Amino acid sequence: MSMIRPRPCPICRKNALPAKAGEKDTFPFCSERCRQIDLLRWSKGQYAIVEPLSQEQLEEMQDGAGPEAAADEAE
Ligand SMILES: [Zn+2]
Repeated sequence: MSMIRPRPCPICRKNALPAKAGEKDTFPFCSERCRQIDLLRWSKGQYAIVEPLSQEQLEEMQDGAGPEAAADEAE
């Protein structure tokens, strides 16, 4: 369970990696700045009008969920 893949930052789409030891953890965002932007969006309720996930994003999420979650969903 140690495989770490870069994910696109939800804010600016740059690749974001989990923080290394000693770094501030901003994952899944690429930086503290993008994390703050996300917090602001939540606080303003802007996610209510955010565009729906693309097919590519959905597949990426399902890929990370594992077979157990997929079987649960199919029920
Ligand atoms: Zn970013």
